[in-house]
Amino acid sequence: MKKNFLARKNIFDITKFTTVDYPNHLACIAWFAKCNMRCSYCYNSDIVHGEGTLSNEEFLNFLKSRKGKLDAVVLSGGECTINPDILELCEEIKELDFKIKIDTNGLNPDIIKELIEFNLLDFIALDYKAPIDKFKLITKNSQIENFYKTLDMLIEKNFPFETRTTVHSDILDENDINTIINDLNKRKYNGTHFIQNYLHVDEVMEKLHSSPRLLNKKLISNQIPVEYRN
Ligand code: SF4
Repeated sequence: MKKNFLARKNIFDITKFTTVDYPNHLACIAWFAKCNMRCSYCYNSDIVHGEGTLSNEEFLNFLKSRKGKLDAVVLSGGECTINPDILELCEEIKELDFKIKIDTNGLNPDIIKELIEFNLLDFIALDYKAPIDKFKLITKNSQIENFYKTLDMLIEKNFPFETRTTVHSDILDENDINTIINDLNKRKYNGTHFIQNYLHVDEVMEKLHSSPRLLNKKLISNQIPVEYRN
């Protein structure tokens, strides 16, 4: 175990119970502080800018108390793959016999590959933030090539994962979603692409008003299956 692993605090908060964040599983969520993006519509700016408050030891003790009640853990954030303890933490979670799902923006393909190759992950929700021409505008990050590497690696490994895009209609429209769908199809993604409409809250990363309209589903390409989460 790395020095001071148990005492280090990277987790901002936990949700003790969820039935919706890991489909067909009873799970808890660990929200990791910090992120390598700054998405305009981010609801979690307190987490992105915040500090960890819960130690690895406290989180693992919580999981021990949930054995037999929960069957899975969702690692979210923020961006969980920038947590320097992610590998070791996943090993400890697996020792406790929980399944692990990560929510990720895909910017750390090497870490994700390592987690998969060590059999530490069961499912991934991968955010496909935007087509290439809007990626930096929305995320304030220009490393879309890293995202593509993650996407291609997951497809090549046939790893269980889903892709998803959050839509605010001032930022992304039907053409943008079709560009994403076309790209997923071209890369031979064989899963479902999920669309999540932006739901307005007061504290988001940038000053945004409610999304003025919903996407016109009739204009969305059917090259791959698409589902709408809200
Ligand atoms: S929405 Fe963007 S900024 Fe917010 S946690 Fe997710 S990747 Fe990070």
